[in-house]
Amino acid sequence: MKFFIGNWKMFGILSSKKIIEKINKFKTKDRSNNYKIIITPPYTLIESFAKKFKNSNVAIGAQNCFFKEKFSSNTGAISPFMIKKSGASYVIVGHSDNRAEGDNDEKLKLKLNFCLKLNLRVIFCIGENKKEKQKKITFKVLGKQLRNVLSKKFDPNKIIVAYEPVWSIGTGLVPKNKDLSKTINFIKSSLRKLYNYKCPPVLYGGSVDEKNINQLKNLKEIDGFLIGGASKSSKKFIDIIKNYYR
Ligand code: PEP
Repeated sequence: MKFFIGNWKMFGILSSKKIIEKINKFKTKDRSNNYKIIITPPYTLIESFAKKFKNSNVAIGAQNCFFKEKFSSNTGAISPFMIKKSGASYVIVGHSDNRAEGDNDEKLKLKLNFCLKLNLRVIFCIGENKKEKQKKITFKVLGKQLRNVLSKKFDPNKIIVAYEPVWSIGTGLVPKNKDLSKTINFIKSSLRKLYNYKCPPVLYGGSVDEKNINQLKNLKEIDGFLIGGASKSSKKFIDIIKNYYR
């Protein structure tokens, strides 16, 4: 089973549901391939979209959550409990945008813990930045990001790991297949060690589009894609899936 996840970032208003309607229509017709579609709109749209697409072929998730479970006096914060009550079933945790805004391993661990406790599935993002890549310490960085946040007691069936090199997000740059294959295999072997040979799906994210998917699809070890910019267009998002299975 492959995953195609659309991260809308800070885009989308109520009328953007048209994008998901088109994607759902496509997925409903396309029964020949085994894949799952998840869209993460901004918080403001979760409740209405989760209701609208409840029995559809598109699942709804959140892009982040606060590191406390339920209610607190933190202005502007949204908790895992609120997200669950809004009807979402997935939460992205550890996106590099949020790491840059202060999400450290300690906070990320709390976020994962509360999401999983509430039966929300977590899309956990990891990735090295440009400097770390140049210093050739990618595996060291990824190993630490995995070890410091993923606890043995977490259920690996509820976790999806997304490898998103920071230098690749929104830049049009994508790792070479040879390097990407090594990195995905490194992440998978680290996860197998942690979870006693069970391995959560490992996705790739960073500038995926309807063209470079034709190269990326050759790496069968990739369990799917986290798609930012291109997920704001139903056509591009659908073309990514079509080209993947072509
Ligand atoms: C992202 O922000 O998660 C992402 C993958 O963005 P983009 O596809 O635009 O690089």
